[in-house]
Amino acid sequence: MGFVYLPPFRVQGISVAGEEAVVQVPELELAFDIGLCPRPVLSAKTVALSHAHMDHIAGLPYWFSQRHFQQQPPGRVVCHHAIAGALDRMMQSWVDLEQQRTPYEIIPLAPGQCTELGRDRTLHAIEMPHTVPALGYCVRERRRKLRPEFVSLSSSEIRVLRERGTDITHEVDIPLIAYTGDTAPGDHLLHDLFRTAKILIVECTFFLAEHYDRAGKGKHLHIRDIERYMASWQAEDIVLVHLSRRTPLPLAREVVADVSQGRRLHLLMDSRTNRARYEARLLAAGGKDEPAKSAAGDPQPTE
Ligand SMILES: [Zn+2]
Ligand SMILES: [Zn+2]
Repeated sequence: MGFVYLPPFRVQGISVAGEEAVVQVPELELAFDIGLCPRPVLSAKTVALSHAHMDHIAGLPYWFSQRHFQQQPPGRVVCHHAIAGALDRMMQSWVDLEQQRTPYEIIPLAPGQCTELGRDRTLHAIEMPHTVPALGYCVRERRRKLRPEFVSLSSSEIRVLRERGTDITHEVDIPLIAYTGDTAPGDHLLHDLFRTAKILIVECTFFLAEHYDRAGKGKHLHIRDIERYMASWQAEDIVLVHLSRRTPLPLAREVVADVSQGRRLHLLMDSRTNRARYEARLLAAGGKDEPAKSAAGDPQPTE
């Protein structure tokens, strides 16, 4: 699995265009797409499905089934409302094939709608242009913050206000992580939730200049598109996924280093660079910055 540690989140998974796309954030108990089902992904309680191309969905019935087999609560899949019926029929076919019923939950979303993820977090759906109905997603977290008019007060002044029963905080929604899924370029990539997310996971299928037309035909992104949008995206970290095998990894690594000037852009599947960065961070933190072990298993980067 590819692994990028962006404290407090781990972004991990396997994402190769046409073969397999599954990107898990264990801290959110969430996976974006499920092209196959590597073992750590069983701990995800929700799968946010971008679209139903086989390389994004093939692990779904297995994930439902294994969660049931391991006595975990039924998996929830969030999907574009236009494909919910077909997904349900697929799962009904599995009942006929296996002669047993696997529990599952399908949550259809129309673009602009959202669903609860628990712990004051919501998952928002954004319409994406691709060759089939497709959604991008953003996870937002509701936090209580000090009202702007009280920010300059001292702690004793704030205590007095609190004792008088003044409501000194208000709720704000923080866009934590967004995922584009497969998409053609366009203004939808400048949607507020993509612009303001702290971490942005973006498909970038093509890197070579001669592949620009191919990207357009397949409704995919090229690194030149990413370059164009980067100035508008406020994300501290941008993780590129869904690279085509037509691009050798060393070449993609070079292009990314060139475009990002050493910061912000990461390739999920570049284990060598991600491991070196992770180890440098551990060293700098004296070993204190290690991600906590969770049900997702081994927090170490893997090849
Ligand atoms: Zn794809
Ligand atoms: Zn696709």
